[in-house]
Amino acid sequence: MFRHIGRKVRGLAVAFCTVGMLGSIGAGVALYLTKVLQLIPCLAIGIGGVVVSWICSWLMYCIGDAHVKIERLEDKLIPKPAYAEYLATNNANRGTCEICGRTTDLIDAKIEDKMGVRFRKVCRECFAANNCQEAN
Ligand SMILES: [Zn+2]
Repeated sequence: MFRHIGRKVRGLAVAFCTVGMLGSIGAGVALYLTKVLQLIPCLAIGIGGVVVSWICSWLMYCIGDAHVKIERLEDKLIPKPAYAEYLATNNANRGTCEICGRTTDLIDAKIEDKMGVRFRKVCRECFAANNCQEAN
């Protein structure tokens, strides 16, 4: 619904401009032909409506176009396949080892020894050195 909204806003700006211009010209002509207003106010409505529609559509188009370009830039800066792979393979279990204090990828370890059973997040080396089991 809101994906690629920039393109939709750009399209809406063009539609808004077209409808606004035709509508104000039509309103000016209709008001003149039905003798509701004099020629000058009708010309003002027609011409003023065209100018206002045109200028307002610039703003809408500008916002939509900026979004499209930001989206394009984002696609270049974050290559999607690599990013998806990164998210899929990245182990979020990263931090400080609770034994040696190194910051690295951690393993949820179950440590069983004469002091009892405890669960720690440890690095690979501490995992091997302390005869740990994976706790999952
Ligand atoms: Zn460690």
